[in-house]
Amino acid sequence: MHIQTHVLSGWCVGNLLPLTPRERLFCMIAAAAQDIDGIGRVISEELYFDYHHKFGHCAAFGLLLSLVLTVFSTNRRLAFVTYLALFHLHLFLDYLGSGPGWPLYYYWPFSDAEWLNPRAWPFFSWQNIGSAFALVGGTVWIAVRCRRTPLEILMPSLDQKAVEWLDGRSADRASVAPGPPSPISREGHSFSTNLRNNTVPRV
Ligand SMILES: [Zn+2]
Repeated sequence: MHIQTHVLSGWCVGNLLPLTPRERLFCMIAAAAQDIDGIGRVISEELYFDYHHKFGHCAAFGLLLSLVLTVFSTNRRLAFVTYLALFHLHLFLDYLGSGPGWPLYYYWPFSDAEWLNPRAWPFFSWQNIGSAFALVGGTVWIAVRCRRTPLEILMPSLDQKAVEWLDGRSADRASVAPGPPSPISREGHSFSTNLRNNTVPRV
């Protein structure tokens, strides 16, 4: 599947669990770093076809990646299990939607045994695009509900702006809708105003 889909799968799963911002970032890495083995394309097509779905998609890489990320995590037991599960989620999504003729080499480098799905969806299929849109929807929902985006650590100011923009849009929609004013709005302190004034703690 597309790498953006993998990244957002890590983000959405990471938000289902009691993890720290750094661990949520690591969830995105654990869900997407496998595709590093496609970097061979920069050098040659041959290298790409020889090693894509091998080096980064094998169990040894998943275990190593999960261990390294866990070392820098706080909730180590939960984090390790989550990272390893996300690694396998990546394999599952690739098995479904990497297109025909793209086997996975789970046991590489110890074995060249292939996992090949003869009914894999084409890479640019409606299933893959639909999955991407579903995860984008989940990401927007998380931003509105939890007030954070995948940029929370990498670009905190942009993360904050995106959250405020989404919050402003929801407040605009609420102000158009008829109905009795809430006790909060009667006092003239809407949620978005409080957020802009930093009087609402971020989760
Ligand atoms: Zn992959």
